[in-house]
Amino acid sequence: MYQIIKQMLRTGIKSGTTPQTDDALRNQIQDINAQILNIVGRALAIRHVDAGSCNGCELEIHCLNNPYYNIEGIGMHFVASPRHADMLLVTGPVSRHMEMALKRTYDATPDPKLVVALGDCGKDGGIFGESYASCGGISKVLPVDVIVPGCPPPPLAILQGILTAVSRSKNA
Ligand code: SF4
Repeated sequence: MYQIIKQMLRTGIKSGTTPQTDDALRNQIQDINAQILNIVGRALAIRHVDAGSCNGCELEIHCLNNPYYNIEGIGMHFVASPRHADMLLVTGPVSRHMEMALKRTYDATPDPKLVVALGDCGKDGGIFGESYASCGGISKVLPVDVIVPGCPPPPLAILQGILTAVSRSKNA
């Protein structure tokens, strides 16, 4: 025991320092959140569909739920069924195995519905392209309202994409 304590005192704390808060980014996030809430005026229900992603885009989507981006805090939430959704947030190229499931998910979403395609894969198939296994971008299978490019797109870009989609629907 004495040896362990001695080793701990000799080694010290090796973990990194706490990162500083980026106030400019935080203000941007709060501004986008306020605009979305102002336009939608109620909770926005989002159904996320992974049509064949590498899961990199999903990690960025997960960030939206953390206390920093706090989308639940303004009422946007992810739902388990397309029947409860206002928007489909689709990642990945559309793999051939997911093509029918994606179409059925779209059909099951009540009108008016929005589709946001995430990532370079969602845009045009990205690094997977089009092949015997991949249909390519989401627009090959569904009508897409907004594309958020990037590999993966950061959470702020995803929020901006959602804001663009709801703004367009409001002005349509
Ligand atoms: S855009 Fe990049 S991170 Fe997203 S699914 Fe494609 S390869 Fe993965």
